[in-house]
Formats: sequence, C-alpha cells, structure tokens
Amino acid sequence: MPNYCEISDALIIYELSAKDITTFKGGGIIEKTIFPKTEEALFKYAGEADFILGRGSNLIISDGLKKITALSLKMLNKVSCFKDEIYTQAGATAKNLLDVALKNSLTGFEFLHRIPGSVGGLIKMNAGAFGQQISDTLTCCSVLNDGVVKEVKPNFGYRTSDLSGIAISAKFKLKRSKSEDIANRIKSNCLKRVSTQPSNPSCGSVFKNPPFASAGKIIEESGFKGFRIGGAEVSDKHCNFIINKGGATADDFLQIVDKIEKTVYYKYGIRLEREFKLLD
Ligand SMILES: Cc1cc2nc3c(=O)[nH]c(=O)nc-3n(C[C@H](O)[C@H](O)[C@H](O)COP(=O)(O)OP(=O)(O)OC[C@H]3O[C@@H](n4cnc5c(N)ncnc54)[C@H](O)[C@@H]3O)c2cc1C
Repeated sequence: MPNYCEISDALIIYELSAKDITTFKGGGIIEKTIFPKTEEALFKYAGEADFILGRGSNLIISDGLKKITALSLKMLNKVSCFKDEIYTQAGATAKNLLDVALKNSLTGFEFLHRIPGSVGGLIKMNAGAFGQQISDTLTCCSVLNDGVVKEVKPNFGYRTSDLSGIAISAKFKLKRSKSEDIANRIKSNCLKRVSTQPSNPSCGSVFKNPPFASAGKIIEESGFKGFRIGGAEVSDKHCNFIINKGGATADDFLQIVDKIEKTVYYKYGIRLEREFKLLD
C-alpha cells in the first residue's frame, strides 16, 4: 500500500506500483513520485527527478523496487482554446485535448481518440495514428532543461522526437472543420481500433512498423499469435500487442519481446525496433 504525503505545493507518493501507473498494469515499484500542483512547484522539484512519468501508456517498469524519484505532471492539466490555437499543460490527457478541439470545431486531433497518453508523452513519442501525428499541429513546446525554460519545436521522426528535459506546456494550431465531420472521423477511427486492437491491459504497440511492413503481421507469421509466458500473452487480435492476462510481470513481457526479436531476425533478417520505453 503506497504512503502519501501532501504538502502545500505537491503530493508525494512512496512506492507506487506499475500496476497502478502503467496501462500494462504489471512491473516494478517506484520509490518516490512527486506530483507538483503548480508550475512553480515543478521548477522547485525538477532537480530531484530521475524520470518523467506521463500516463505510463508506453512504459514498462522492470520488476522490483526502483530506488529513484519520478516526477508526474498529472496535476498540471489545464487546456484552453483561443481561435484556432490550443494551449495545454503537459499533464493534460489526449482525451482532454480532443474534447477541447471538438468543442471548438477544430480538426487535427481525431487520431487521439483512445490513445491513453499525456501531452508530454504524446510529444516525446510523436504519437500518431490513421495518418495524423502530434507533430503535425504542434507549434511550440515549453521545456525545462537544467533549470532553464525554453520554447522549442523538437525534431520529430516516426514515433520519436529529440525532446530533452521536461515538457511543461505546448501550443497547437489546428484547422476549422464542421463538428459533425470531426465527430464522424472520430467514430470511424474508433471502429477501426475496436475491431483490430485488444482491450486488455497493454502498453500499445510493442514494436515500430519496419518500412513498408506491419510489425504485427511479421510477428503473426513468425508463429507468435497467442504465445504466452506467465501472465503476458501476444494478442490474437493484433500480434504487435502484448497483453496482461492477469498477474503479468515486466519479466514475462520482456521475455516475449526478446523471443520475438530473435525469431524475427533469424527468420527474416529484420531487426524490429522497440516502440515502448523501458524504465530499468
Ligand atoms: C491501448 C493503447 C493504444 C495506443 N495507441 C497508440 C496510437 O495509436 N499511437 C501512438 O503513437 N501511441 C499509442 N499508444 C502508446 C502511448 O499511448 C503513446 O506513446 C503516448 O504518447 C505515451 O504517453 P504517456 O503520457 O503515457 O507517456 P509514458 O508512457 O508515461 O512515457 C513515455 C515517454 O515519454 C516521456 N515523457 C512523458 N511525459 C513527459 C514530459 N512531460 N516531458 C518529457 N518527457 C515526458 C517519458 O519519460 C517516457 O520516456 C497506445 C497505448 C495504449 C495502451
């Protein structure tokens, strides 16, 4: 059971488990996590942080106690809209962004539907789907690095960015569209996701798609559909998802990842690149 300590400008939780802070719902424990309540408090505690925790939706925390301090921006989650621009703190969720965009008839965030990340994580990972990605609309990002705040526009690649330091807030420029059209695109994306992706706990796609190929198909063709170690299993709905069937450890997950990597390389000569982040 984690211990809490609430002070005027932050909440501090000791021994937070991956079961509670990652979407995979299995793995290790972080000794200390600080949740600043204001940006001033974020500046105050940033120096203590060994790791920046988003919503844990692309994250595996290796088993055991991690003697580290994590910083979570969960309480810094304000989102506002002015004309066609959305300003947001980095702890806001993808859902928060999409709701504001929809309410203001702005298009560009439809792909965020059902992505369980925070703005900081979306930018760090350059999250995307259905031909849209977060870098398409980002105009600038306020980043704290070594005690200095700078406005930057990171360089982006496929599910990657060179963001370094702590993303505090971000500004996006979107385009006007009819609310009805936006809602229809969200619905269509939602149907595609529900019909092709598992609903069990996972960290999303495990591997990036190699150029002109689908990681899921390659993994399926390598014979891993339904492959299980402990509580972790390769989804039979989409083989690029490793799901937690109950009680999975990070080690169960990582053993499957290792087996897939070796088999795919042996069979096809392809080195699959990991998409998830590992906190080891
Ligand atoms: C069911 C499911 C579906 C998904 N679908 C998609 C999809 O369609 N497309 C897609 O791209 N991804 C998808 N994902 C993966 C994931 O949601 C995204 O990568 C998301 O952007 C991760 O955000 P997070 O806040 O959870 O980050 P975390 O997983 O907590 O962290 C990821 C990385 O971001 C860093 N980070 C987090 N916040 C900050 C910050 N404020 N400043 C600096 N660094 C920070 C962390 O240190 C870490 O390195 C899916 C995941 C799940 C579980």
